[in-house]
Amino acid sequence: MMTLLENRNGAAGPEPAPAKRSLAGMTKPELMAALAAAGVPEAQSKMRAGQLWNWIYARGARDLLELTNIAKSLRADLDALYTLARPEIAAEQVSEDGTRKWLLRLERQAPGERAPEIETVYIPEPDRGTLCISSQVGCTLTCSFCHTGTQRLVRNLTPAEIIGQILVARDRIGDWPGAAAPASRHGIPDAERKITNIVLMGMGEPLYNFDNVKAAIAVAADPDALAFSKRRVTLSTSGVVPMIGRAGAEMSVMLAISLHAVRDELRDELVPINRKYPVAELLNACRNYPGLSNARRITFEYVMLKGINDSIAEARELVRLLAKIPAKINLIPFNPWPGSRYECSDWAQIERFADVVNRAGYASPIRTPRGRDIMAACGQLKSASEKLRASGLGPAGGASAQ
Ligand code: SAH
Ligand code: SF4
Repeated sequence: MMTLLENRNGAAGPEPAPAKRSLAGMTKPELMAALAAAGVPEAQSKMRAGQLWNWIYARGARDLLELTNIAKSLRADLDALYTLARPEIAAEQVSEDGTRKWLLRLERQAPGERAPEIETVYIPEPDRGTLCISSQVGCTLTCSFCHTGTQRLVRNLTPAEIIGQILVARDRIGDWPGAAAPASRHGIPDAERKITNIVLMGMGEPLYNFDNVKAAIAVAADPDALAFSKRRVTLSTSGVVPMIGRAGAEMSVMLAISLHAVRDELRDELVPINRKYPVAELLNACRNYPGLSNARRITFEYVMLKGINDSIAEARELVRLLAKIPAKINLIPFNPWPGSRYECSDWAQIERFADVVNRAGYASPIRTPRGRDIMAACGQLKSASEKLRASGLGPAGGASAQ
């Protein structure tokens, strides 16, 4: 593990002077309003917003003064009021396997509040690069195997904070068109992109922050902005049944369901939202997911917990339950965290379980844990400073990488 950057400035320091607002991360309507506030006449605002859109999201501009096709005087007016700043990087870690994790420090929403922190993870693979982003600080749900569920501070991320994670990652891994590249409307050609896929599998329950997640996905998927194909954007939910249909209709993203158990009795314990929306209701919502087809399958995530949910009978029940749903099954080895009450299933048992699933016709990749040395794996995301504070080891408010 290598910590590249550690920034101990002021997680709980004095209140900073009111900062200039950042345009980076704004949605189209927000950008239009910001332009109006800078005195741009209404007749021009659409055209100007389009120019900023391209600079910010297709080219990755970080300085308003460099926007060369915008008149100098307007650049100066904008610069007086705004920045293109991203969320502050409190720490950046790089794993032996190339996985990167950023601890991002967000702005306080109330004076005196501790600056909240979230984590974002980049996972490079030979055929793709996946960015795992957070939708909330912490999570109001309390799945018993998930570290995020133990975090105290919870709030929804704004659209800008969700989009900001993608901007930071692109900045840090050099995933913007080079200065010498032709001025493409759509940024980098797909084949040269480092981040090809986005998964909402970081901290938080995305369907409990529906409107902001939807606004952020609109920017991520806009071909004139971050230009991700919606087939490469996956939203993972623990099963907020009433919002699943709306997610398909309004966001048309790929869906992943954190199933983890085939019986209500056990799922009630592992994924407590099951007490409200039991397995049968959840699977019904899946069957009705807009746009579902063999080419657009739902991914069912199943964390392998030793002696808890990993029997062969449960594997058989799993394939029986999913029989009529176009599905993929992802078996996730449990990632233990300090104080967790479960163990990961033995490898041989995971393979036996996978055999049953494979024989039923699912490719069922077993998701290899990535970035374990930097605690970047699923369900381990929880800010390092929170951990240090909880253990009594860390400075009262200081952020620190492990
Ligand atoms: N709240 C959403 C998305 C974030 S969790 C959800 O629950 O789907 C992303 C995935 O990581 C979920 O499938 C979750 O169940 C899984 N996960 C959480 N803790 C884990 C752990 N310790 N080991 C392995 N997977 C875990
Ligand atoms: Fe929240 Fe998902 Fe973790 Fe459950 S698994 S506590 S829903 S982040």
